[in-house]
Amino acid sequence: MFREIGGPITIETIDVDEPAPNEVRLRTTACGVCHSDLHFMKGSIAGPLPTVPGHEPAGIVEAVGSNVTSVEPGDHVIACTSMYCGTCKQCQLGRPHLCTDRRFCMRAKGEPPRLSLDGMPLKQFADLSGFAEVMLVHERAVVKIADDLPLDVASLVGCGVTTGVGAALNTAKVTPGSSVAVFGCGGVGASVIQGARLAGARQIIAIDIVPSKLDTARHFGATDTIQPGDEDVVRAIKKLSGGGVDFAFDAVGNVNLTAQCFYALAPRGLAVVVGAIPQGQKLELEPGHFYVEKMITGSIMGSNRFHLEAPQYLELYRQGRLDLDSMISARVTLDEVDDALAAMEAGEVTRSVIMFN
Ligand SMILES: [Zn+2]
Ligand SMILES: [Zn+2]
Repeated sequence: MFREIGGPITIETIDVDEPAPNEVRLRTTACGVCHSDLHFMKGSIAGPLPTVPGHEPAGIVEAVGSNVTSVEPGDHVIACTSMYCGTCKQCQLGRPHLCTDRRFCMRAKGEPPRLSLDGMPLKQFADLSGFAEVMLVHERAVVKIADDLPLDVASLVGCGVTTGVGAALNTAKVTPGSSVAVFGCGGVGASVIQGARLAGARQIIAIDIVPSKLDTARHFGATDTIQPGDEDVVRAIKKLSGGGVDFAFDAVGNVNLTAQCFYALAPRGLAVVVGAIPQGQKLELEPGHFYVEKMITGSIMGSNRFHLEAPQYLELYRQGRLDLDSMISARVTLDEVDDALAAMEAGEVTRSVIMFN
């Protein structure tokens, strides 16, 4: 449980309600530790408190509500925060990740809370709350996966892999033969690199201040690497790519990196902001670059349709074409979560995964 900005995570025993007609109760098996959890705890992503964090989980269905048809007890599932109503304009346009009525997947005001402590309602981070042995979520938040897949590996698809691979394949639509730059090579950046590789990019330039992450980036498919500090990064990218890249991704979420993405583009290139830029920052760009039709866009949760894509990504994993095993740097227990968050902040890990018994 997380009670105040800057405070620690405490481990407490809370009450989990019975599933409502469209809800699913899971026994959590694994949950990845993501930067958005950290952003939330530091206050750079706003949200109500007290909250149970965690939003990259996989587990086994324990109980389902009376209207649930897509899963049943015993099913192995991934949960994802991109739940959707199915009827709003964005859903109808085929963009459920931009659903404007996700209240559809939440309990209405006046109904008892899903989670509580001594009668005090608790919020669910990302409407999931994955740092817990038991989860209670809307049916639309889960997707069934094959029973024989390792759930720790599968959990990464719930956020980081979907966010990164989807940014390359769905948001940017990276094209075969293109050149790509990726700023930041943690879990999301490594996933962008893998997505660009799957799309057939000819050149993938990885940029990170941590040398070991550049080695990891090469493993995942980067063809060139740049460690900032030696030379101007934009100039280095332009030199390597022969004048600029077709696609550039800010996988960190930092206005300076976003600007470098934009400046490193070739004409008609696309800069994609994948990481969460802390609230309050302002992005400045020299508008002259628009004369060569450079573009810039946000990307949220990899523009996913996760009920379709999560099983596809796991099939690519099974075929050896999407390397998820190497993305797990550490497996930890729930009471080690603060250490896992600190290691992520220090840039020491690609992904830590909390394992539950
Ligand atoms: Zn996340
Ligand atoms: Zn919708």
